[in-house]
Amino acid sequence: MTRPVFRFAPSPNGLLHLGHAFSALLNARMAEETGGRLLLRIEDTDQTRARPEFVTAIFEDLAWLGFEWERPVRIQSEHVSTYEKNLHTLWSMGAVYPCFCSRKQALASALLSRDPEGQPHYGGTCRRLPRAEAAGRITAGKIHGWRLDTSMDPDASAWGDAVIAKPHVGSSYHIAVVTDDALQGVTHVVRGKDIEAATPLHLLLQQLLGLPRPHYHHHRLIFDDTGGKLSKSRGSTSLRQLREAGATAREIWERLGFT
Ligand code: GLU
Repeated sequence: MTRPVFRFAPSPNGLLHLGHAFSALLNARMAEETGGRLLLRIEDTDQTRARPEFVTAIFEDLAWLGFEWERPVRIQSEHVSTYEKNLHTLWSMGAVYPCFCSRKQALASALLSRDPEGQPHYGGTCRRLPRAEAAGRITAGKIHGWRLDTSMDPDASAWGDAVIAKPHVGSSYHIAVVTDDALQGVTHVVRGKDIEAATPLHLLLQQLLGLPRPHYHHHRLIFDDTGGKLSKSRGSTSLRQLREAGATAREIWERLGFT
């Protein structure tokens, strides 16, 4: 029997907090109970937010926590050409299209309906461009991102035509995550409920690219003492701060229900 493969895949946009610790330890616990493998992946395709010092901090904080992962660690920014290849496959199938709209133009054409994050659905201006015209604009060097045509998929269409590659970036979280889960043979995706709404996009991308579909489990979120969601951007108490204030890894495990 092949061993299950789990992964913890943080984005180095800030210091890890208790919510990350819960996710990491739950993956570790499930891998242990099933005799599975445990991978760590650094999801740094958004280079406007990722910082190298947070990558170092992820390694240090996870080691302190007692999380044990396989080496080598896959760093997404080192594999952008792989994601671009999949993007190209999707373009040749007609499943994605280049979008030349500026943020302002996209908003001006937006529909009244909104995506699960509350953003208005894109109006589809560039979806209606003839393919030859779109290809010509690319050849002429016009700045563009890429959108996934979700109109045929009842679940993914909750997002409208989601951006799967931003201008100058070449890939996004969505395309990178499904590419890597498949390449790394991940069988079980265990991650927070905050990402659950994006899963239909991932399932659609897997289907289009002919990739295997892992099992998904979206776990509960960890809240701070005031009942608010922990987040890196809001500066919620990081593992590092807790450690510096004298907490032990064992105390973190207990606080999160892993004893
Ligand atoms: N990189 C994502 C994050 O930190 C998680 C992706 C995933 O687990 O699929 O929010």
